[in-house]
Amino acid sequence: MSASLLSRYNQPVPRYTSYPTVPFWKANPDTQRWKTEFIAAFNRHNEKEGISLYLHLPFCESLCLYCGCNKKITTNHSVEGEYLDAILKEWRMYRQMMEHPPMIRELHLGGGTPTFFSPDNLHRLITTMLADAVVHPEHSFSIEGHPNNTTREHLDTLYALGFRRISYGVQDLNPDVQRIIGRWQPLERLEDATNAARAAGFTAVNFDLIYGLPAQTPKHLQYTIDQALSLRPDRIAFYSYAHTPSVNCNQRLIDSTLLPAANDKLYLYQFGKMLLEEKGYVNIGMDHFALPTDELYIAWKTGKLHRNFMGYTVHNGGLLLGLGVSAISDIGSAYAQNDKSLTNYYRAITADQPAITKGYWLTPEDQVFKRHILDIACKGETQFEATWPAQLAVWTLPRLREMEKDGLVTLDSRGVALTDAGRPFLRQVCKAFDLHLLRDEKIRADLSLCGKQPAPAPSFSNAI
Ligand code: SF4
Repeated sequence: MSASLLSRYNQPVPRYTSYPTVPFWKANPDTQRWKTEFIAAFNRHNEKEGISLYLHLPFCESLCLYCGCNKKITTNHSVEGEYLDAILKEWRMYRQMMEHPPMIRELHLGGGTPTFFSPDNLHRLITTMLADAVVHPEHSFSIEGHPNNTTREHLDTLYALGFRRISYGVQDLNPDVQRIIGRWQPLERLEDATNAARAAGFTAVNFDLIYGLPAQTPKHLQYTIDQALSLRPDRIAFYSYAHTPSVNCNQRLIDSTLLPAANDKLYLYQFGKMLLEEKGYVNIGMDHFALPTDELYIAWKTGKLHRNFMGYTVHNGGLLLGLGVSAISDIGSAYAQNDKSLTNYYRAITADQPAITKGYWLTPEDQVFKRHILDIACKGETQFEATWPAQLAVWTLPRLREMEKDGLVTLDSRGVALTDAGRPFLRQVCKAFDLHLLRDEKIRADLSLCGKQPAPAPSFSNAI
């Protein structure tokens, strides 16, 4: 790829787990309106397709320098009890709004490190929540596990509760890269954790890998992929390292001179993609690779793939309830996010108040452009409406025509589709439909032209 093309498209861009993206949500949403619309969405979706739950468990025992998650580092495990009490109280608040027992279709434990919590505490959390709920016959329960502290007892406990999928954070398996990123995790730990999950009965094991880490070379990447694939995970998330030290202060501890240049990072992506595809993993959407036996691959093949705050999912439910500090909920017509500060989260829950501090109600225009962004992210293409909304012609089509000239998409009057060359820039194609971001960029450019200083721009990671 030419340097000029790379520099034009390798720009900061959102990951589109929502539209509009979080920086465009409003502070202090109307909590009464949120409750009313939550109840309506629950009544619409619960009986038909069930609901999805995301529980954010924020504690980790040690800090990984590259981390971009909402986490709290501590080795003091007495924090578990207080946090579980709060999240269960938050669940009860929502539970009281539900006229009928909730039917749980998806349940995901993310963090932080969910396996920071003891098996007994995870058991208490899930059994209490499910005590007066119905588990959907096609339920999917999953957890993010840390290979260093996921024990057989964790796995047996979770299996008995209905969990069948675990994702392990692998990142890079080379000791020198692990030392630089502050995540010491020997290969044997990953082997033991993977074998233990399968022995416990888990039917799906995912690995998360990262390219573009400091000091990471193609040789490092090849070693990581070779070793990881020897354990035959069902699914690989192959993430780009997002270096945003202005937002994630722990990343300031990374020596930025060790980061690969844009062209080298693109090479790492293409090299890693080739290695994964050679071993039978199929590229699905933005950064995911799956074996043809994996349910994500099947959903992608049959056009049923969906994307939300949990990333790619096989279930396109209408209601995702996020519980815990910083957790995000999506009820179709609106989004809400809990406070990111643990202290503020505890304060709100203790006062019997919803902990939401940010939110957004979608307009009819948002719904149209959200559909296009989801289709690009999940299918690699989107079809235009018979009558284009005026804003599509004004904001989107000029950008798509540029991308067409550069060979990243094919475009006609019916719609747009990514080409192979355009795959690394999928998020840039989504951005062509992001009216909030495009308008914001225009306002900033206009203010600069008038010699005025605009407010700081939202911070996103580069496309690759
Ligand atoms: S990468 Fe995971 S384990 Fe490491 S600090 Fe972040 S949330 Fe914790």
